[in-house]
Amino acid sequence: MSAVPTRSDLGSLPVYVPGRTVEGAIKLASNEVPGGPLPSVAKAIVEAAANVNRYPDSGCNALSARIATEVDFPVSQIAIGCGSVSLCQQLAQAVCEPGDEVLYAWRSFEAYPTVTQVANARSIKVPLTAGHEHDLDAMLAAITPRTKVVYVCNPNNPTGTAVRREALERFLDAVPSTVLVVLDEAYREFVTDSEVPDGLEYVRSRENVAVLRTFSKAYGLAGLRVGYAVAPENIAKALRQVYVAFSVNMIAQAAAIASLDASDELMARVKEIVGERERVRRELIDAGYDVPDTQANFVWLPLGEETPKFAEFALDHKLVLRPYATDGVRVTISTPEENDLFLEAARAYKA
Ligand SMILES: *Cc1c(COP(=O)(O)O)cnc(C)c1O
Repeated sequence: MSAVPTRSDLGSLPVYVPGRTVEGAIKLASNEVPGGPLPSVAKAIVEAAANVNRYPDSGCNALSARIATEVDFPVSQIAIGCGSVSLCQQLAQAVCEPGDEVLYAWRSFEAYPTVTQVANARSIKVPLTAGHEHDLDAMLAAITPRTKVVYVCNPNNPTGTAVRREALERFLDAVPSTVLVVLDEAYREFVTDSEVPDGLEYVRSRENVAVLRTFSKAYGLAGLRVGYAVAPENIAKALRQVYVAFSVNMIAQAAAIASLDASDELMARVKEIVGERERVRRELIDAGYDVPDTQANFVWLPLGEETPKFAEFALDHKLVLRPYATDGVRVTISTPEENDLFLEAARAYKA
């Protein structure tokens, strides 16, 4: 018990629903990659662990420099965060006055509503099209003088759909230059369609575009919590100003550097997952499912009212998927064996 009141709006704070972990079941719920750390990355983790009596480098200087080289931007345009979820919150804290608006598609990444509200900004959600894609025209129409940040999650979580170059450029041309467009590219490494642009080119050519990337997905470091932003210099600086000191720990920093050094090996794994993604989608379509084109490491089954039933059926088959109310189910692509178990269950459901 306490006499101290908490913030009056906490009751309305959306709760982030993480993918469930069920003992003995296969988890296809959180878009993780199936493989553990590469030997070189594991070695960096063990070495860094020997120094945890010391504080980490709060400026993440070595990692920032390594990323700057990797993406070919000055280090002044890089900001590191405790996962890109944290960077989303830092963005609202760094850019928005209380009551300012953060605009994004819905459904999209589950964390946007929570981090936006925590930062005292207001979420404006624009429904996806019937084809499960960003409705960029409707998003443009929803921009007001209070709009400070617009997210374009590309490819979109949870639908896997991606915005192509021509549509994105038309959108960027029309957004006021005082509104920050944040291209959340958590799944960039899984993109195979060359018409889906690399957002970094727009950070180079425009003054109001930022890109978010993470080590949690293709790089396989979800448990270590590290991501980064490439942004206009003043935005990157502001992100560093609202950063919680020391929050990216030294093991994460070391592992991220080692992962960039091992990116060829990691991208070979990504290639396997992409191959499996195409196979899984094809087999689901053959089994009678509607599956939108996906550029990420998951597929989206827009099952509507059947969503909870399908997820329960999968759970009975020891498969944890990620259901979203009565919209659909997101299924992470895993190893061929685990994907086969899922496909078997999906076919059994239709039988
Ligand atoms: C997984 C994911 C992230 C990354 O989250 P981390 O905090 O870096 O683990 C960011 N954006 C989207 C859309 C995601 O799906």
